[in-house]
Amino acid sequence: MNPLTRNLKQLIPWILALFLLVALFQSLKEMGGEEDLPYSAFKQRLKAKQISEVTMRPDLIRGQFKDEKGNSHRFRTIPLPDPNLVSELESNQVKHFQGEPDRSWVTAVLINVGWVILFIGLWWVFVIRQVQVGGKQALAFGRSRSKLQSAKTKKYTFADVAGCDEAKEELQEIIEFLKDPQKFQRLGGKIPKGVLLYGLPGTGKTLLARAVAGEAGVPFFSSSGSEFVEMFVGVGAARVRDLFEQAKKSAPAVIFVDELDAVGRHRFAGIGGGHDEREQTLNQILVELDGFETKEGVIFIGATNRPDVLDPALLRPGRFDRHINVSSPDIKGREAILKVHARGVKLSPEVDLSVIARRTPGFVGADLANLVNEAALLAARRNKPHVELHELEEAIDRVIAGPQRKSRMIQDREKKVIAYHESGHTLVAKLLPNTDPVHKVTIIPRGPALGFTLQLPTEDRYLTSRQEILNRLCVLLGGRCAEEFVFQEVTTGACDDLSKATTFAQKMVTEFGMSERLGPIAFRKANEEIFLGRDISRGPGYSESTAQAIDEEVKRIMGECQERARELLKKNKKVLDVLAERLIEKELIEAEELNAIFAGA
Ligand code: ADP
Ligand code: MG
Ligand code: ZN
Repeated sequence: MNPLTRNLKQLIPWILALFLLVALFQSLKEMGGEEDLPYSAFKQRLKAKQISEVTMRPDLIRGQFKDEKGNSHRFRTIPLPDPNLVSELESNQVKHFQGEPDRSWVTAVLINVGWVILFIGLWWVFVIRQVQVGGKQALAFGRSRSKLQSAKTKKYTFADVAGCDEAKEELQEIIEFLKDPQKFQRLGGKIPKGVLLYGLPGTGKTLLARAVAGEAGVPFFSSSGSEFVEMFVGVGAARVRDLFEQAKKSAPAVIFVDELDAVGRHRFAGIGGGHDEREQTLNQILVELDGFETKEGVIFIGATNRPDVLDPALLRPGRFDRHINVSSPDIKGREAILKVHARGVKLSPEVDLSVIARRTPGFVGADLANLVNEAALLAARRNKPHVELHELEEAIDRVIAGPQRKSRMIQDREKKVIAYHESGHTLVAKLLPNTDPVHKVTIIPRGPALGFTLQLPTEDRYLTSRQEILNRLCVLLGGRCAEEFVFQEVTTGACDDLSKATTFAQKMVTEFGMSERLGPIAFRKANEEIFLGRDISRGPGYSESTAQAIDEEVKRIMGECQERARELLKKNKKVLDVLAERLIEKELIEAEELNAIFAGA
């Protein structure tokens, strides 16, 4: 069903109601097919003794007469002042004549109120809903406002996206599929229906989605999550339905929903009930995702910078089952992005973009695009034939000074601190036995973390030994210890490590029974059940002195682990320096290179 017919369907009840009302008034006016007679004609028929029945109201005379051929007719006529009428009725053999109370006001009220109601109804449909939906066309409220990337707008390809090669690689499969859906069907493989792109703002998620459609040469339907969240319950859901219908019609196609978190937030989250409209919209998305077969050749791509708040139902297999991280670019990535954007700008041949890449840690694609543009504007203002290094460097400061940037830009000194912090984690993890291998370590910010050391277990494990937990605590504290050791002070950057480590230590003592002093007892936490509203007044199931002992044990464990981490760092200061320097230079070290560094040490 296309949107026009659906909108017409919505209008049908209104049109019917209008006809009904009109008909009602019409019938009120000429109840039962009465003929209007002029008063003179009424008197003539009266004199001809044709009138058989008369009912009189002050404002209306109604009755029945027989015409010359003997047919009965009902009539109505407007009375004139005629004092002798009653005696004339008598003398002309009218069988019944009677009076009737003046009921005209009832009709009058009905007619007026009826029209008022009708008017209000129409006004509501056309004006109020209009305003609230904010659309321009009177009937467009259920229609998705998705924009089709038309042939005229620039088609993006992977050549326009740089610095996120991993994401591109993962999307390659989707492109192959969109190019030739049948090929994959034949082999019976299941292609993901939904792909979730997540990453910081400005890392190129929107760009990547467009490029997927561009590479595959299929239509691109883009919409934004916030467009689905409207005043009226049901409007968002209708838009979702429409978006999928449109896409299916031109399959193979890509549906893209930006800011998916605007609709996809965890349901039931928040106090005071959910947001009905958002929930309905989310449900509709789930229904559509379940309803279409990938065979139809439609791929749903969503983008968000808050994957953590998304409803788990969205992320289930068969829905958004492919999650792709669009990470912030490292030094090489930044250089590549700069090159992409420099294509449209006249650069002086002497400019070495790697210099700029080195000077812009923490910049994402959007910042770099902005940087190149600012530099071009600066050069133009100075009437230079082309953009020189000088302008590019000045543009860095401009972009940093820009409103959104400040918070994310990393200063040189901070970069050094972060590098030592992460090297600390890595070093401890590498040197202690029974720890997960370090997969990579980076000082490129990702989410709230300024850098991270990624450890991946080699196999699934369901049991963790006491020693393994202790080693993990050492790794967590290693970052902070390295900062302390090298700079003789600590920063706030370690607070997440600290809270994680503390939680582990507490669990060791109170849940896993891994403290010899307290013995194998599981202590119930004081506030465990408060969330359910029960047992609020109940305290912890142990005494003050036990609580004190727990605190002391946690403190002891943490202290011992910190000491071990410190010792390791002190003994291996040289390796720590090598690691930190390499990180400052390259911002990212992979497992192989790490192994080489440690093998040489
Ligand atoms: P997001 O959707 O992740 O917030 P966008 O895709 O909207 O980011 O990026 C905004 C602009 O920044 C793009 O139009 C592009 O000019 C530039 N940009 C961002 N990332 C990249 C990249 N990886 N390569 C090239 N340009 C990029
Ligand atoms: Mg975007
Ligand atoms: Zn850390």
